[in-house]
Amino acid sequence: MSCDFFSLATPGVRGLHPYVPGKPVEELERELGIRNIVKLASNENPLGPSPAVVEAIAGAASDSTRYPDGSGFRLKQVMSERFGLESAQITLGNGSNDVLELIARALVTTADEVIFSQHAFAVYPIVTQAVGATAVVTPAREWGHDLEAMAAAISARTKLVFIANPNNPTGTWLSREALVAFLGKVPAHVVVVLDEAYTEYVDNEAFPNGLSLLAEYPNLIVTRTFSKAYGLAGLRIGYAASNPQLADLLNRVRQPFNANCLALAAAEAVLQDAGYLARSVSVNSAGMTQLEAGFASLGLSWIRSVGNFIAVDVGREAGPVYQALLHAGVIVRPVGNYEMPRHLRVSIGLEAENEACLAAFKQVLGR
Ligand SMILES: *Cc1c(COP(=O)(O)O)cnc(C)c1O
Repeated sequence: MSCDFFSLATPGVRGLHPYVPGKPVEELERELGIRNIVKLASNENPLGPSPAVVEAIAGAASDSTRYPDGSGFRLKQVMSERFGLESAQITLGNGSNDVLELIARALVTTADEVIFSQHAFAVYPIVTQAVGATAVVTPAREWGHDLEAMAAAISARTKLVFIANPNNPTGTWLSREALVAFLGKVPAHVVVVLDEAYTEYVDNEAFPNGLSLLAEYPNLIVTRTFSKAYGLAGLRIGYAASNPQLADLLNRVRQPFNANCLALAAAEAVLQDAGYLARSVSVNSAGMTQLEAGFASLGLSWIRSVGNFIAVDVGREAGPVYQALLHAGVIVRPVGNYEMPRHLRVSIGLEAENEACLAAFKQVLGR
């Protein structure tokens, strides 16, 4: 007799909806037998890796019979110099998603509440649900986080608040002034996670640098990633910066070798390739301008974004438009699971990719 394994799962896991990733190019090739696919679905860096990264990986490959340095000593030294952090403040992750999960596992129990915004990054509800905590979702304001509503939602049971700045998939952002006003209202025992996965793309004087707030707010954890502007999504490396006591706690639940040797070497190399980051940012900025102009000429509206992606309103249910775009060889990201049923999220690509994407939108929407 077979067991109903579903009944074995914890209640949190039973109620979980798995993260839905962007469709891989190879999968679409297999399914539709088409070639020359443009994938603008996962906010990946369109430049390809830095040559310094490719070289560092080749060098590190010969060490791959050995476990990596579990402390990430060398990478943390480079990061410390670059970002003005102590090594003891840094927790490395297998991508920053890993770190987000570590935070929930280290701090949150089934008795706790976790606050995040409507339309916020999908990993927050997943890690909250996985540990069996109660999610408190505050309504968005003009697609962005409503920090006043989030502060008002804090209760005696609140353990954690997730804030994405800028947020994915909306691309909306919070000013330093708004963020500091919020942090001033948060009790010392509530931990605020400031997810800065796209911070490198933002060029605005009013935009805060979370790392500079750590000294003043010991209950703040800033998470960042090498997946986006640094172009290492496939290697899986990200980090948290926090006060050393919180880092010590995260380190206790972290798998000892969660950051692999190729990822460590690649992250070290890309931090030392200043030209790569600058190119990422300038290609993104040009591509954003190109897509905005294209959407405007198609009569579409969009949510103003400071990330490497843009959520465009297709003016009707987005699912069929997404499907039709797939048949035209363009993969974008439906965001119905973010309560955005009429939007599609388009990652910023190279000029030719953006052009192909806009041509497919024109054809599919019949404009
Ligand atoms: C992409 C993204 C991440 C980072 O994911 P990795 O696990 O580091 O690849 C984190 N937060 C948000 C909001 C993101 O969009």
